[in-house]
Amino acid sequence: MLNFCGGVMFHHFHDRSKHIASQGSMDGGAFCRLLHFLKECGYAILDPEEYICKALRDALQPYETCVTFDDSLKCQFDIAKPILDGIGMKAFWFVYTSPMCGELERLEVYRHFRFSRFADVEDFYSQFFKNVMEGEHDLGISYAESSEGFLRSGYCGDFAFYTESDRKYRYFRDIVLGPEKYFAIVDKMISDSGYDAQSHRDVLWLSEGDIERLHGEGHYIGLHGHTHPTNMGELPYCLQMSEYRRNSDIIQSIVGSRPEVVSYPCGSYNGDTESIMRELGVVLGFDAQAKTVIFDKMHIPREDHANIVREMRSGGIGF
Ligand SMILES: [Zn+2]
Repeated sequence: MLNFCGGVMFHHFHDRSKHIASQGSMDGGAFCRLLHFLKECGYAILDPEEYICKALRDALQPYETCVTFDDSLKCQFDIAKPILDGIGMKAFWFVYTSPMCGELERLEVYRHFRFSRFADVEDFYSQFFKNVMEGEHDLGISYAESSEGFLRSGYCGDFAFYTESDRKYRYFRDIVLGPEKYFAIVDKMISDSGYDAQSHRDVLWLSEGDIERLHGEGHYIGLHGHTHPTNMGELPYCLQMSEYRRNSDIIQSIVGSRPEVVSYPCGSYNGDTESIMRELGVVLGFDAQAKTVIFDKMHIPREDHANIVREMRSGGIGF
């Protein structure tokens, strides 16, 4: 039985032609069934305008939810948007903006590399850890000790939809290696394989024109940082501010107004984030985790679509 409050969070979609299937991705049919299932469970899916209005008045009911897309993904525009169009529904789109400035943001490039070049994600993880082990001397770490540290940490244990390998990979990426060493490892894997990120750019991210069109059609474009740091809450005030300000400036230049709603990348924030949001005029914020109550407008919970899919499967709904 579904029992969440707040929004529903979507990331990747796949089809039979342009967009490859990847971990946690869903096709258009599954998206339709999920929206239908939410309604069957008694949820009312509100358009962003109504959702914002009610949230600001503290008038949201526990059964009122909204559709949110994170990460500026073209697959959301190509696959989910036509379905929303068909039923006259609008959504929040939380976009990071560096791809619109020509950056090939690693977050998405790495994911595409993982799923287009390896048999499955476990195959990628084993190659990744092989590279970590082989490079441990240069990296200045001990693979064995770090692996033990991971087991003790229970890292990302709250994210039920992550496998043990997903959690271990994230522990090494975020805790053991840090951005520089992590990038060095995966960049080496990419160059060893001959993968060409530039050629996939238009398949991965929304363009400015897509964002302009979404806004024009009544969808809401919100903040998600400029380069999508995965550890935003650990960055110093000035870096967080520059991430969110640049993001806000670019969105304003496309849609004509400053976004007043944020989704914190990877749900990561700290006390500084709050003052930055106040300074940028942000009045509503979405977390990346589910809860059963909303008690803070700057931290509205969200249920990941994967948890809803699991609930559907347990109820015998084909997926
Ligand atoms: Zn994100």
